[in-house]
Amino acid sequence: MILPRGFANQDVGVFGLARSGMSAVRALAEAGARVYGWDDGEGPRREAQDLGARTQPLASWPWERLGTVILSPGVPLTHPAPHAVVQAARKAKAEIIGDMELFAREMDSAAAKASVIAITGTNGKSTTTALIGHILSTCGYTAEVGGNIGKPVLDLNPPAQNTAYVLEVSSYQIELSPGLTPDVAVLTNISPDHIDRHGTMENYISVKTRLLEQTKNGGIVCIGVDDSYTASIHSRFAANGGPEAIPVSVGKVLGRGVFVLDGILYDAQATGAAKVLDLRSAARLPGAHNWQNAALAYAATRALVSNRQAIADAIASFPGLPHRMEEVGRSGRVRFVNDSKATNADAAERALRCFSDIFWIAGGRPKEGGIQSLAPLFPRIRKAYLIGEAAEDFARTLGDVPKHICGTLETAVSEAVHDAQTSHVMAPVVLLSPACASFDQFRNYEERGNAFRALIATLQAGPMREAS
Ligand code: ADP
Repeated sequence: MILPRGFANQDVGVFGLARSGMSAVRALAEAGARVYGWDDGEGPRREAQDLGARTQPLASWPWERLGTVILSPGVPLTHPAPHAVVQAARKAKAEIIGDMELFAREMDSAAAKASVIAITGTNGKSTTTALIGHILSTCGYTAEVGGNIGKPVLDLNPPAQNTAYVLEVSSYQIELSPGLTPDVAVLTNISPDHIDRHGTMENYISVKTRLLEQTKNGGIVCIGVDDSYTASIHSRFAANGGPEAIPVSVGKVLGRGVFVLDGILYDAQATGAAKVLDLRSAARLPGAHNWQNAALAYAATRALVSNRQAIADAIASFPGLPHRMEEVGRSGRVRFVNDSKATNADAAERALRCFSDIFWIAGGRPKEGGIQSLAPLFPRIRKAYLIGEAAEDFARTLGDVPKHICGTLETAVSEAVHDAQTSHVMAPVVLLSPACASFDQFRNYEERGNAFRALIATLQAGPMREAS
């Protein structure tokens, strides 16, 4: 645990007691602060009490003494409207920050200097973060991986020799971490997302850019330049001096930077472009979107690791993240792929592009726009198995594509597996890539993916074995 020093005997508010809020309560209480906490849920309040927090409604917080409020990234700071806690804190002139800001202040004063690599962007954050962590730990660093990817930053180990913190940072977390000054910042890509929480696209872009602007003097920013938003951000950084800006592209040859052409990763420096790795051999990074993640991870780590071959080997051996194009089994020719994290059509599109004989399990709680944008990929779908609230609507959009409204994941898996096994196509893939949120039938996408994995395992232990 990383202790936020300087808070002993201070009154601090923590609002929102989910993962990062609870971690802040634990660390602040341990550091000797008097912690006031609140969350709408009774369970989290009880847990925070056990950790030493006084859980009482906002109105009874000692606002005249509270200098700091730690806000959960899930609580609106600006849009659609500042939450009541934000208004109360502003009125009391208390600073409003996140757990990552506490972490950042400790890093500033830490005796053992550690590198901080921060990753943001609309898509690919977790994969890029996990991959950078994997590369660094393979290459001799003690990589502490956390932030939005799962482990709250204050739960990470304090810096020791050769520690590198690899942090996934959401746009909400950037807004709450003005003192986070990474050595290396990575911006994967930008597309319209979460506009409800940022008001406008301009605001969303400016928040994402802020992380790059906060990068240390002498640091590096790695920018995926394949969309128009990030391309112009890169031009600005390249023109302005400041941290070194490394452009990263999939599909464009760059004079200087890191790029991928036909699956081959190149490192282009003043002396020319050197081939680094054939990414088609990285089994857990399939598809052009993952090549972007791999190229960014390479660009981010080459400043810390001088042995380029070691980076390439680490990329090739990346074990992948659960629920993202995760192969959870094989039976004869049939592959079973869990891409439960694909909660919108954009993400499902990346998965559908990777295969050509797809038995597609989709549906759940629909997102705006449905799956109309996937129409060019429909010829790859041998049959669709539709679940959850979106089933009827998806069935209409799918038109002539063979489909069945299955209702539950269990029925969908059993039908898809049967059809894939008895089909005569070349490379059948049973793919869960729902293009929907999971909340109508599951607690979250992880639970949905775990259910898929368990159903496949049960079938492989029984009926599938008999069939093969
Ligand atoms: P994030 O943490 O930003 O949500 P993940 O790495 O968890 O991103 O990937 C989530 C989904 O987004 C993946 O299942 C994949 O479909 C899609 N994805 C991953 N990387 C990229 C990328 N670089 N560009 C576009 N989409 C991506």
